[in-house]
Amino acid sequence: MLHLEKKLIEELKSTIAGTIILPDDPTYNKARTIWNGMIDKKPALIVQVADTQDVPVAVNFARKNRLELSVLGGGHHIAGNSLAENGLTIDFSNMKKVQVDPEKRRAYVEPGATLADFDKATQAHGLATPTGINSTTGMAGLTLGGGFGWLTRQYGLTVDNLVSADVVSAGGKAIKASEEENPDLFWALRGGGGNFGVVTGFEFNLHNMGPEVFAGLMVFPFHQAKNVLRQYNEFSQSAPRELNVWVVLRHAPPLPFLPDDVHGKMVLVLAIFYNGEADKGEKLVDFLRGFGNPVGEHTGMQPYTQWQQAFDPLLTPGLRNYWKSHNFETVTDELIGSLVKFAGTIPSPHTEIFLGSISGLQNEIPAEATAYPLRHARYIMNVHGRWEDESDDDRLIGWAREVYNATKPYAAGGAYVNFMTEDENNAVASAYGANYERLVVLKQKFDPENLFHMNQNIKPKPMAST
Ligand SMILES: Cc1cc2nc3c(=O)[nH]c(=O)nc-3n(C[C@H](O)[C@H](O)[C@H](O)COP(=O)(O)OP(=O)(O)OC[C@H]3O[C@@H](n4cnc5c(N)ncnc54)[C@H](O)[C@@H]3O)c2cc1C
Repeated sequence: MLHLEKKLIEELKSTIAGTIILPDDPTYNKARTIWNGMIDKKPALIVQVADTQDVPVAVNFARKNRLELSVLGGGHHIAGNSLAENGLTIDFSNMKKVQVDPEKRRAYVEPGATLADFDKATQAHGLATPTGINSTTGMAGLTLGGGFGWLTRQYGLTVDNLVSADVVSAGGKAIKASEEENPDLFWALRGGGGNFGVVTGFEFNLHNMGPEVFAGLMVFPFHQAKNVLRQYNEFSQSAPRELNVWVVLRHAPPLPFLPDDVHGKMVLVLAIFYNGEADKGEKLVDFLRGFGNPVGEHTGMQPYTQWQQAFDPLLTPGLRNYWKSHNFETVTDELIGSLVKFAGTIPSPHTEIFLGSISGLQNEIPAEATAYPLRHARYIMNVHGRWEDESDDDRLIGWAREVYNATKPYAAGGAYVNFMTEDENNAVASAYGANYERLVVLKQKFDPENLFHMNQNIKPKPMAST
């Protein structure tokens, strides 16, 4: 473990309003625990910032003392880059405020806020913006990588609703990024992850919606999976954008609306979200019922905030996780064949294959408009390898990679950086496709020393002298 002079730590303590947690502190282990149970990193110090002013102090401290620097938002990223082994972690868990201006339909969000914090504050005014599907995810990391969820078909990605961001640069300066101020930085932040600075505040555009939506689950027996997926593909091409249906292939959890003999059996689940009135939602759901013979269903009007938490029990923190993801433009028969084949070999009761629709408004935005490049993608697959015992690591990781390799021929290319595992760092350039070169140039401009490298790293490249 790196040994920092006591005097230096004392100096840092006296200059910030927040708390410094060191390895011998009783709260250290809790503070370094993140969502993926496979990550066991030990920062030399965790700086739990209390306010925006603490952030440049921590950034300058890390730079001057040549410490590895990481930024912890909601702690959900699978790769575990939010913790700096033997370095300094800026921890935003005490900065979770979300303020809403209902007149302007804007939300001002601190970087430690989770999706639950965001939804609670915005729904109090009947407002929302697209985020993700698990309420414990952090707004910060989700936004900086792109961000998609139930409202994406209608209102785009989370970054498409970002109006401005307050950023602390590698040099420790506070900068505003928006279409008007530092537009190149604003471009890079919208998909470029944590590469360009530490964001201390986000401003989002909001939409009228809720408080209730029509949503729920419909469960089909696994032997009908191919047939259901074919109809899903066809239906989702012309479905209204207020409707978003995702497919989950997994062992059935013991949900109360499922017969006992279905519990633990492989099933195909349609997760259904309709941002509209009950009667229209009911008609759409009736159509979906015709895809096969559901063995159980639980749909109806419910608070949007409740639906936003519907998957929390399946995506609890602490398990070991290895995920693999592809984007698709269409769900071909070949892809369906492959998905169903591998779903039939799912190696643990916690493991699942998700297929989400992101087709809609976000496809109309040019790929070069934001750093997030995957504007051609209409579906995203995420293979959630999840298990309990370390002894299963090789088996589960091997299986997830097999699914990824087998489905690659049908993929649309690129990758969603928010789903990239630690071993995919060499795929960052191809993940960003045609936007990568511009990102490299901007990295050189805003972070030439690559201080912010605990992420899906874009390496700076000095420009050739003329
Ligand atoms: C259970 C689960 C469900 C998910 N569902 C979805 C989903 O529905 N849709 C979706 O789009 N994604 C989803 N994701 C992926 C999610 O978007 C990423 O994991 C994202 O990085 C989470 O952000 P975080 O703040 O929680 O993560 P962290 O691990 O805290 O941060 C991830 C990275 O973001 C950067 N970062 C974080 N905060 C800041 C900051 N303030 N300034 C600068 N950089 C920062 C850092 O590089 C950090 O390493 C899901 C992930 C999980 C684990």
